[in-house]
Amino acid sequence: MDTKNWVSDYKNFTSNQPFVIAGPCSAESPEQLLTIAQSLKALDISIMRAGIWKPRTRPNSFEGMGETALKWMADIKQKTGLAFATEVANPTHVELALKAGIDILWIGARTTVNPFSVQEIADALKGTDKIVLVKNPINPDLSLWIGALERLHRAGIKKLGAIHRGFSSFQKSRFRNQPLWQIPLELKTLHPDIPLIGDPSHIAGNRDLIFEVSQKALDLDYDGLMIETHPDPDKALSDAQQQVTPEVLKEILSQLRVSERSSSNALFINHLEALREKIDHIDQELIETLSTRMKMIEKIGDYKKDNHVTVFQLERWNEIMQTRPEWAKLALLSPDFIRELYKIIHDESIRIQTEIMNKTSEPEK
Ligand code: PEP
Ligand code: MN
Repeated sequence: MDTKNWVSDYKNFTSNQPFVIAGPCSAESPEQLLTIAQSLKALDISIMRAGIWKPRTRPNSFEGMGETALKWMADIKQKTGLAFATEVANPTHVELALKAGIDILWIGARTTVNPFSVQEIADALKGTDKIVLVKNPINPDLSLWIGALERLHRAGIKKLGAIHRGFSSFQKSRFRNQPLWQIPLELKTLHPDIPLIGDPSHIAGNRDLIFEVSQKALDLDYDGLMIETHPDPDKALSDAQQQVTPEVLKEILSQLRVSERSSSNALFINHLEALREKIDHIDQELIETLSTRMKMIEKIGDYKKDNHVTVFQLERWNEIMQTRPEWAKLALLSPDFIRELYKIIHDESIRIQTEIMNKTSEPEK
């Protein structure tokens, strides 16, 4: 997709701070918004988020201040020079947000799942040069996420971005929404031109995990973070547990390790090249070893076939799953990693042996 990278318009490259969008889950009052806006200015943050139409799971929860809050945002924007971001879920929201001069619009996780809604929003946005961010859908479906970005792109939106807010799961986990990092990383691989913003607040669901999730996102080379910030988080009308005060945000930002994407230092480049050559060599050896192992598997397959014995041998599989993680520990490798690796090796071994079993034997002459 031919898109424009808009992050550099907002990121202050002189500060060693990640690009951050901060602000409350929901706009609650003009006072709350102004307080937080002033704190963000002091932290050198230039984009403030605030939800005004809140998609809530149950109808009796706080559903946002709606249109009224757009006026508060416009006033604060004028007073402070901050840019504003809010969620839109239908064409009416888009129209009102554009009229109020909102700078960045984002599509929420519950909307990204519905191509009809996304298309309506894309049509309503035609002709604007606003930044539009798309949160991942609540279900782990990369195509839906990319599909939403494509619909916006086809409507002429050039300043796009993706927000990784994690995925709903039935399974209990430490996180409110499981991060499933491989999905946003795949998006980044397919569309390196689209800025990827981490949303540690909605992944974590709990303010104690915000730092950890933010650091992980930066280590994976995300372009920025969106962190819910509230003057009095415990009293917040939505997402109270995951919001942090501006003081805590300041602390988090000061502790985050921001690494350079690359270095032009010649010594660094030479040394990295030398290390990579060694890795290439080790990988060749690894592949040769795997090939030797698979050849042995073929012999075993032939032998089982000749003796009319089944491919899958439960006892042997149990023994492998017991011993290999133990050997891994002695070699200072993660037993979980080796367990997963052996599952893949075993699948391939079963495939090879099944192929041998199914081969019709040469007719006897
Ligand atoms: C939000 O950003 O407050 C929000 C409702 O997010 P999501 O769409 O990720 O649930
Ligand atoms: Mn929220």
